[in-house]
Amino acid sequence: MRIAVVQGDGIGKEVIPAALEVLDALSLPIEKVPVELGYDKWKKTGYAITEDDLDILKECDCILFGAITTPPDPAYKSVLLTIRKELDLYANIRPIKPIDGIMGITERNDFNFVIVRENTEGMYSGIEEIHEDVAYTKRVVTRKGSERIAEYACKLAKKRQKRLEIVHKSNVLKSDKLFLDICRHTADIHNVEYHDTLVDTMAYNLIAHPNRYDVIVTTNLFGDILSDLAAVLVGGLGLVPSANIGKKHAFFEPVHGSAPDIAGKGIANPIAAILSMKMMLEWYQLTDLARLVQDAIEYTINQNLVTPDLGGKATTNEVGEAIAARVKQLIG
Ligand code: ATP
Repeated sequence: MRIAVVQGDGIGKEVIPAALEVLDALSLPIEKVPVELGYDKWKKTGYAITEDDLDILKECDCILFGAITTPPDPAYKSVLLTIRKELDLYANIRPIKPIDGIMGITERNDFNFVIVRENTEGMYSGIEEIHEDVAYTKRVVTRKGSERIAEYACKLAKKRQKRLEIVHKSNVLKSDKLFLDICRHTADIHNVEYHDTLVDTMAYNLIAHPNRYDVIVTTNLFGDILSDLAAVLVGGLGLVPSANIGKKHAFFEPVHGSAPDIAGKGIANPIAAILSMKMMLEWYQLTDLARLVQDAIEYTINQNLVTPDLGGKATTNEVGEAIAARVKQLIG
């Protein structure tokens, strides 16, 4: 097992060491390859990511990633978008399910769904024109891109409750008509029950009726927004992991960003990063170890050892250490 480890910027430098502590507690035969990427690197060298970095990422099985600051500078090319395109990580997977011991602000825990977001095209096509008085971004929806994400979502639905929700805005956006038609057709082929909802209605429904959903498939920007919104159900951004999956590569990262407002204070919640590492274990099909990590997280939360975002006083390191210690205990 060879994993590229990118701490990145801001709290990425705090939550990834905590996730690695938990990973180390599992004593797996893993080679960890540190790769420096991001805004801090850009400030030092003029490059946020180089061709050599991309080669190293491609040579590893997968990537464990913290967070990167993207400054609003047109000369700065997004590292995340570059990696997603270069490694063709077409499926962004965000599981949204309650964590034992924590209530989100809606105070309900009767939901368990996964957002499957197309990750390489849509509004994040990167095809843009900036003029003095007008700027354009081209929204790209292709048959190939839609087919493969629909396929991924249907296969996932078949392993779960076999229900697919297709989220779109095809009443306004012609590009979404193609997306919707392809998702429906793919669901028919896979014999998966499906329903579709406009994205604005979905924003309401996700909070009002989260128990209705199993697998949600949508385009890039809509998925980006809905998954941050859904974090509210779970208890905050510090708790939501994600995976970016391609045919050959995979990339695991917490949903949150570099959080400059709390960076350097040692109070970032490492659970989203640890759960992202847990998704990596699932990708390696180490499901028993993944469950053990989940148990250790829940145990630590129930000991009230949590960071200030969850109302506690513990530091990032203390939470990481406590979860790692529990993992060691459970392994015996
Ligand atoms: P970026 O520009 O890198 O996206 P951001 O601050 O705009 O950073 P996030 O990093 O997602 O976006 O943070 C949004 C809010 O959530 C911030 O107030 C931040 O402090 C809080 N937050 C994010 N992640 C965590 C975490 N792991 N623990 C505690 N608070 C967090």
